[in-house]
Amino acid sequence: MERAFKIAVFDGDGIGPEIMAPAVEILTFLAQSGNYELAFEHVPAGAAHYDRTGESLPAASMDAARAADAILLSAMGLPSVRYPDGTEISPQIDLRKALTLFAGVRPVRIFPGQQTPLNMPEGREVDFVLIRESTEGLFHTQGRGEVSEKEARETLLITREISEKLFRFAFNLAQTRKDQGRGKGRVTCVDKANVFRAFAFFRAIFDAEAKRHPDLIADHAYVDATALWFVLKPWDFDVLVTENMFGDILSDLGAGLMGGLGVAPSADIGEHHAVFQPCHGSAPDIAGQGIANPLAMILSGAMMLDWLGVKHDHPGMVADGTRLREAVEAVIAEGTTLTGDLGGTATTGQAAAAVMARL
Ligand code: NAD
Repeated sequence: MERAFKIAVFDGDGIGPEIMAPAVEILTFLAQSGNYELAFEHVPAGAAHYDRTGESLPAASMDAARAADAILLSAMGLPSVRYPDGTEISPQIDLRKALTLFAGVRPVRIFPGQQTPLNMPEGREVDFVLIRESTEGLFHTQGRGEVSEKEARETLLITREISEKLFRFAFNLAQTRKDQGRGKGRVTCVDKANVFRAFAFFRAIFDAEAKRHPDLIADHAYVDATALWFVLKPWDFDVLVTENMFGDILSDLGAGLMGGLGVAPSADIGEHHAVFQPCHGSAPDIAGQGIANPLAMILSGAMMLDWLGVKHDHPGMVADGTRLREAVEAVIAEGTTLTGDLGGTATTGQAAAAVMARL
């Protein structure tokens, strides 16, 4: 039976519209040849929109996001456009909070032919997923920290409610990956439970969830050691789950292992909604030149197909997600149509066309 899905699309700022257009074109092509329909609704938000209208995330856009089956977002924000308090316009963070998107999913893949600053031993591949809690942790007092002449204070918050959802999500993802033949069925809780009581609390909730998954391996790692192992033996990991700030830092390290932000996709997932977007920002330094790398945006689209397919029990969409990811990986491995950030000379359009040709 044909299934129809509503996708809210935030074209965003800077290079946003340049990378979103080919991603939507590729997803439309896949849906046409698959047994499902994707209805894209483009909705305004972001820094340029704020500059024009005084609104960064219009209520109608928020309503469209809430009503959608999934949300695609390129990147928002421009350093030159700010609220009166000096902070930047960042509807992507507002969406995370408004839709309780607690699981920031950051896959890290290094496959043969992929550029990486690592010295990869022959035959090794890296395929792990970092899950960054995205609604609390050290970001709890974001914008509300207390600062005086003498001291500054921010508060870390870890709640049982969000942690239980987060760990359930992590174990379920490890199970899905294992079922798909992609993962070892292992979940690692990354914390600092040797020093902070809040992380001992975090770890105890993780251990309680682990007991519900006897077929999966559960273990722990301190965040400092994890940073070391990301560099020395990243092929050992499967699913890692951690606090917001630790995840913020480790996910950029993960993007670095993959050769840069231009190939790092992500998803922000809650119980009812999910946003799929590249890890990078709006890159105003290269906007309007047609040279932005569209691959992270396209890979985020592949994650969307996988998530929708698993959620709605639609194996064809899951298969298309895998097909799209593999097409991007083939283009990267081949190396002849890469954009400037990956050392090539291809335009955004040429890089996206190479992916389409593979499909
Ligand atoms: P950035 O990620 O936009 O750019 C960092 C560097 O990476 C730049 O040199 C840029 O040219 C390059 N780069 C990024 N994406 C690229 C791509 N697809 N292809 C080729 N090169 C690429 O980070 P920034 O400069 O710190 O931030 C720019 C703006 O984006 C800021 O306003 C910031 O607030 C915003 N931002 C938004 C998001 C988001 O929407 N999720 C994330 C980070 C930053």
